[in-house]
Amino acid sequence: MKIATKFIHAGATPDPSTGAIMTPIFQTSTYVQEAPGKNKGFEYARSQNPTRKALEEALAEIENGKFGLAFSSGVAATDAVIKLLEPGDEVVAASDMYGGTYRLFTKIFEKFGIKFVYTDTTDLSKVQAAVSSKTKLIWLETPTNPLMNITDIAGVSVIAKKANALLCVDNTFASPYLQNPLDLGADIVMHSSTKYLGGHSDVIQGALIMNSAELREKLYFIQKSCGAVPGPMDCFLVLRGIKTLHLRMQQHCLNGEKIAQWLRSNPRVAKVYWPGFEDNAGYAIAKKQMRGFGGMISFELKNDSQEEAVRVLSSTHLFSLAESLGGVESLINHPASMTHASIPREERIKNGLSDSLIRLSVGVEDADDLIEDLKKAIG
Ligand SMILES: *Cc1c(COP(=O)(O)O)cnc(C)c1O
Repeated sequence: MKIATKFIHAGATPDPSTGAIMTPIFQTSTYVQEAPGKNKGFEYARSQNPTRKALEEALAEIENGKFGLAFSSGVAATDAVIKLLEPGDEVVAASDMYGGTYRLFTKIFEKFGIKFVYTDTTDLSKVQAAVSSKTKLIWLETPTNPLMNITDIAGVSVIAKKANALLCVDNTFASPYLQNPLDLGADIVMHSSTKYLGGHSDVIQGALIMNSAELREKLYFIQKSCGAVPGPMDCFLVLRGIKTLHLRMQQHCLNGEKIAQWLRSNPRVAKVYWPGFEDNAGYAIAKKQMRGFGGMISFELKNDSQEEAVRVLSSTHLFSLAESLGGVESLINHPASMTHASIPREERIKNGLSDSLIRLSVGVEDADDLIEDLKKAIG
């Protein structure tokens, strides 16, 4: 089945009791049983909910996986993956990744005796060098947030398999429309469904998708035991978002390309981070493992001061100054003081995340209007 058909029909079966084409929002906490233990497969809504079940099936289908699990947020999904581990285990993780993931690893899980080793995952030899006999998990994000670095998922999966470690890929930036990590050898795909899957900046949610039934059982056990489940209304919103994911992503990609090219030709712009440039370090791998380059772009100004960046950030009208990404409307963000403020400055600079870096989540508005907005702001 082709992507467009799959995204529209994923997880959708008419409601058996009414024929409703859209899965209803089953706003219930419990289910009446005919006799003790005799039920219709639903006992208590932390463990099972029909709206969530429809979404979880859709998530599996769109990522070419066998099983999907939905969580109350992206970080709750990440949290569940780390809870597969035990004290003494090690995780090799990307040094350039979402600030909230870094915070969860260092501030919450380190104190439980899990060790995180950060490395530049774009270099396979560095990943290999970071792996030890205690490594149980490799955590990747590609493209990364906010520098759009590209990691070779298939290459890392070879290293993970050899080390007997799981490979989990945060696929939030690419979305399943552009990249399917399970097909490239990953064991688990993680999403912040808050972003492109939901697509309308109206829900917080996360997802895990996998092929192994054993892994699914372990993660389902964590999901119901720890309880970070999304409500049925939120599941409905993400199910609805998935139906237009391909249409939105096509426009995000077109707009992203136009804006990346325009920024690059602007004399006031020093550097543009976007994996679709042929001279970008990650271009060849992006071309191989992605179906497009997306609408996430970061750039630095020639005037490399935080003041100038803040002036630009405060001067756009169509690009709203906000954290988050992946919605239909364009957003502009200052990673150093916003999304990545939880990473110590020294650590940030070392990873190439400067004080003047500006990140764009290019929406699906008219690209010419967006360029006009940036032109007025950058000057
Ligand atoms: C937003 C985001 C997360 C965290 O997801 P939440 O839904 O905000 O909890 C994780 N990874 C990436 C790449 C993100 O952009």
